[in-house]
Amino acid sequence: YKINKEELVLLEELGKGQYGTVQKVFHKPTNVTMAMKEIRLELDETKLNQILMELNILHKSQSTYIVDFYGAFFIESCVYYCMEYMDAGSLDKLYGEGVPENVLAKITIAMVKGLKFLKDELNIIHRDVKPTNVLVNREGEVKLCDFGVSGQLIQSLARTHPERIQTDTYTVQSDIWSLGLSMLELGTGKYPYPIPDKKIGMFAQLSAIVDGVPPVLPEGRFSAECRDFVAQCLNKNPQNRPTYAQLLEHPFFEKYEKADVDMKSWAEQAYSSRKDLLKQT
Ligand code: ATP
Ligand code: MG
Repeated sequence: YKINKEELVLLEELGKGQYGTVQKVFHKPTNVTMAMKEIRLELDETKLNQILMELNILHKSQSTYIVDFYGAFFIESCVYYCMEYMDAGSLDKLYGEGVPENVLAKITIAMVKGLKFLKDELNIIHRDVKPTNVLVNREGEVKLCDFGVSGQLIQSLARTHPERIQTDTYTVQSDIWSLGLSMLELGTGKYPYPIPDKKIGMFAQLSAIVDGVPPVLPEGRFSAECRDFVAQCLNKNPQNRPTYAQLLEHPFFEKYEKADVDMKSWAEQAYSSRKDLLKQT
């Protein structure tokens, strides 16, 4: 099924990223509420068509750990990407002062299974694992979005936005490192490295990451299994990081895989404290 702009009713803006905005939309023919991401690019029709073709492989496979893809279209040189609307939003706005270990475990399990699905079924690496790209709904489901499905889109973004640090040495191991960093951010409620600004430049941040000792989850609030899981993902040597299959057998997973964690209540509570926060400001 092909979606086009005329079939969509634009609702509120859900957020803004580096490349454009994400809007809540209602698709009239199917009565489905969707999230529509606008990606600004400067491209000719041939390349835009190639991007659409590459995105369309997403129609073929589905996973409970990946947001559903409904379709994409372009207008002028913007790509519009329609996906499942996740009504509790992204994790960056939900983790507050840090999530408890059992919630962190369920989020991590979903992320690893989602990443493994992308790798095994679609042969893609995510390339942008971080809390803003992990979405939650009020049922407590956790799903990944914004993964690098389209090679042409990745290349075009790099060309249109040269200010973004690009490496062509991105590997599965890089996704696993980013998973470890995301877990630290989710567990502690803050990003583990200084954020670059006028005082701490990009270079200082990069050298803290490259030369520094990897950050760890604090003792006390987190079990030995949990801390070891993060430490393994953050191994400085990419070759020594575990594979997804190995992560799935880690004691941290064994401890929580069968545990009953009320993710629905957590999502509802996190979402409502987020709304309170928005009212104050
Ligand atoms: P960056 O551009 O650096 O990757 P980002 O991931 O925050 O940052 P976008 O991907 O453009 O940028 O998304 C903007 C915001 O829109 C997200 O932070 C998220 O809160 C919200 N959002 C994105 N997709 C959805 C969705 N499917 N359902 C609900 N909210 C979404
Ligand atoms: Mg995103």
